[in-house]
Amino acid sequence: MGLVGEAGIVVLGAGVAGLTAARFLLERGERVLLVAEALGEASRVPVALVNPLRGRRFTLAAEGERALEAALSFYGRFAELHMGVFRPVPEGERAKVAGRLGGLRHRWEGKGVLLEDAFWLEPRLLLERLAEGLPLLRARVAAWEPPYLVLEGGKRVRGEVLVYAGGGRGAHLLGLEGRHTPGLVLTLLNYFPRAISYRVYLAGAALGGSYLPHEEQPHLPPPTEGEVEWLLAGAEALVGYRPLVASAWRGLRFRLGPLPGGRDLPYLFPVEGGFALTGLGSTGFLYAPLLAGRLAEALS
Ligand SMILES: Cc1cc2nc3c(=O)[nH]c(=O)nc-3n(C[C@H](O)[C@H](O)[C@H](O)COP(=O)(O)OP(=O)(O)OC[C@H]3O[C@@H](n4cnc5c(N)ncnc54)[C@H](O)[C@@H]3O)c2cc1C
Repeated sequence: MGLVGEAGIVVLGAGVAGLTAARFLLERGERVLLVAEALGEASRVPVALVNPLRGRRFTLAAEGERALEAALSFYGRFAELHMGVFRPVPEGERAKVAGRLGGLRHRWEGKGVLLEDAFWLEPRLLLERLAEGLPLLRARVAAWEPPYLVLEGGKRVRGEVLVYAGGGRGAHLLGLEGRHTPGLVLTLLNYFPRAISYRVYLAGAALGGSYLPHEEQPHLPPPTEGEVEWLLAGAEALVGYRPLVASAWRGLRFRLGPLPGGRDLPYLFPVEGGFALTGLGSTGFLYAPLLAGRLAEALS
């Protein structure tokens, strides 16, 4: 039958979801094996903001405070966290914004509010550190046939439990339907040690934002001039000048369609043969540690 790997728990995917889940499981003494084509896909974004206050309206994400706490204590062991996200707030909106901050530590400063426990990090370094010492089989999975993952070429990996953390790229293996939204991050010659975010964000040497929030495209269109211009104009509104662009990075956000039950955090759920931890949209780095902890509890 061509068995090339076996473990108590086999995780498909080595992005932030799969690596975080595998780490939690390993630390709980589980026999775990990761199977992935590469370290991360969407998770290779140049900079990730971990900020529970979302979007223009600055809405507190579901379980945002708990997710931030889990993210802080988990990532802090593996990567440098660049603390603080500054959000300009127009004078007239201060009372409204103050009401949305929940129990998050913050400080009003000049023309806005500093979220003291929100942060940014460099995903590529994080992924490499998370992968250190984790059993990883680099291969493309062609089919999900519990208790097996069938690899391209026909060989198999066996897991008593299978965990799907393959992001948007592997979602078809389980018939998971969702939205694939392209996003663009410009890498810069300028450097912003403290993140600043309003419509677009500047953090480290990166400028990002959601230019095409409602388009559904399962492929990566090249950046358009309009999109680059929108990002640069947004940056100028934040810091008063246009940063210098070094290169452009494209990625797809994958968000699942509504799942039966309509839970607040629909990203961790049972599937045939095990669990799925996926569909995290633009919040993968925020939620991965909270949900990986819950997965580890469910499996122990
Ligand atoms: C432009 C942009 C900006 C973003 N900014 C942020 C941000 O600031 N903060 C934040 O929290 N999130 C951000 N995100 C979202 C975040 O990147 C994702 O939520 C997160 O990376 C998803 O992680 P994942 O592990 O689920 O999937 P992925 O990173 O996509 O990983 C999928 C893994 O599965 C493997 N895989 C898939 N299919 C197969 C197969 N058939 N065989 C073998 N291996 C397979 C891949 O090789 C990879 O290892 C952004 C996304 C984009 C596109």
